[in-house]
Order: sequence, then C-alpha cells, then structure tokens
Amino acid sequence: MTKSARQPGAALAEDLVQPFQVDRGDVRGRLVRLSASIDQILASHAYPEPVANLLGELLVVAAATAGAFKFHGSLSLQTSSDGPVPLMIAEYRAQPEESRGAMPGRARLRGYARCDAGKVMEALAAASPSASVMETVLGKGSLAFNVESGPSAEHYQGIIAIVGPTIVESVHDYFRRSEQIDAALRVDVGRAPNGQWQAGGVLLQRMPRPGLAERSDDDWRRALALVGSSGRADFLNPGLDPRGMLQRMFPEDDVRVFDPVSVEAQCRCSRDRVDSVLRSFPPEEIAEMVVDGEITVTCEFCNHRYLFLPQDLGLPKQLGLNETH
Ligand SMILES: [Zn+2]
Repeated sequence: MTKSARQPGAALAEDLVQPFQVDRGDVRGRLVRLSASIDQILASHAYPEPVANLLGELLVVAAATAGAFKFHGSLSLQTSSDGPVPLMIAEYRAQPEESRGAMPGRARLRGYARCDAGKVMEALAAASPSASVMETVLGKGSLAFNVESGPSAEHYQGIIAIVGPTIVESVHDYFRRSEQIDAALRVDVGRAPNGQWQAGGVLLQRMPRPGLAERSDDDWRRALALVGSSGRADFLNPGLDPRGMLQRMFPEDDVRVFDPVSVEAQCRCSRDRVDSVLRSFPPEEIAEMVVDGEITVTCEFCNHRYLFLPQDLGLPKQLGLNETH
C-alpha cells in the first residue's frame, strides 16, 4: 500500500525523482524515472550505443545519489580515464527549496561524453570477452563527485576509482567504504520499442535504528533483495505510475511517498555566456577562430551551435577573411 506523506503536486509521471520510505526497517529511497529528458540528452549526440548506455547510467546515478548527500544544489559526476571515452559528465541541479515556496520541486539534468566513435568501436572489437563494456570504453581512471550546496555554495568533492564491471559497481564500492552513507543502487538504461531512450533506478538508504540492529539487518537485506529482483521492464516502462511501481516492488509493506521532483533536460549554456567567453580572448586569437567570416561555438553538453560574426564581438568585419584570399 502506498500513501502520501503530503499531497504531491502535479508531477510529470515520466521524468521524475520520487522519494519514498518503506516503513518496515526504516529504509528510505529515491525512485528515478527518466524518459524525454534522457532521450534528449543522449540523442543530441551521435554516440555509439554502448557509450550512450554508459552516459545514461551516469545520469541516473547522479539523479539517484543526489539524495544521499544532504544538499539542495547541484551534483556533478565526472569520469576521467585513459580509454577511448576519456571524460563523461552528468550534472543534476535541484532547484533550491527556498526559491520555490509551495511549488513542486524541479531539477535539471545535462551530461555528455567526450568520445571518438571509431576508437570506441575498435576497442570493443579488440576487447577480451571477460572485460565489461565500461572497462573497455572508459579504461582505468576515477569518478569524481562534486557537490555544490545552497546559497552559500559550499563545495564537497569525493573521488573514487572506477572499478568494474559497471559504474553502479564503482559507486557501491564507494558506499561500502563510506561510514556516513549506508546505501545501495540499482540502475537500468535501454530503449523503448519506439527507439526512445528510457532509464530508471532506485537508491536505497538505510536509516540507523538504535537497539534494533539485528531486525534492521534483516529488513535491510530484504529491501535490497526486493529492489534487486524487480523486473527491468518495470524500470524502463514510462507508462507505469511510480507509486504502482513501488507497490509492485514492496508488495507487503507500507510505502510512504513524498513530493516528487520533476526532471527536465536543460543546459546552462546561452549566447550571452558564449559571448562573454569569446570577448575574454585577445583579438588575434578570435581571428584564428573565424571560418568563412563566422565563428562557430558548439556546446559540448547540448550540441547547440552558436554563430557569431566578428562585428558581433566588436571586431572589424573583415577579421579572419585575409587568410582565405
Ligand atoms: Zn549547452
């Protein structure tokens, strides 16, 4: 049975983070469902399928683990490694509670992978059968958690090693070592029959209950088993209502749901930002960027192209044209 702790606002059913609590065992969690948002992020680049899958996994991990840190700001996860995808970033920005009042929570998601598609396919073709896709594509390296919190913009950074076979396994390794976070994670990424990217996941966190350690251990293991045995299809089904999904996951428990946070894909780039970055360069360097009388800047995250003419930046019109003569 699911019940609301508070009446949730009108949330999108398909792109959201649904916080919940399982009364037995005091287990808290965050259910993540991403549909249009993750499709927009993954489809805006021509990533090889295994790279899109890995980036999708990182995006769900960001949305799910954001609740494990006590913050209302942004969490970014960044891989840095020696494989054919040397860098991936997933960024989850929650709207601060103080700025939204009684409005439903919203969060923005963006991410990208730096990737040479040809090298990725070569590496996968040459990989030993025992190596996972993540090990082959990312190689050896680290995963950094950057947390920026609240109006005072406090920073926290944690860096962990990438350990196979998946990103989720690397994060589990981190949770196991961490004394503050007793948590487990499950993530699924795939395509719907219409080709659209879908993803889902659950972060479970155990709330300490003094004096009941033994029973609490049993309840915790049971919750982990229930989440682990849930069908992948449920996580990838945008039509399944999150409450219905939690009910199927914990059929014998009271599950309390809190206000959901709706998630959308949104980049932070803008013409103004690109403009001020360009103006910070010396004119000779800007001249080198001019091709056919124009400067093109492409955002690595959302792949949006910004076009500038030299005169937009207060420079002579003819700038950069002399080399083509
Ligand atoms: Zn952008």
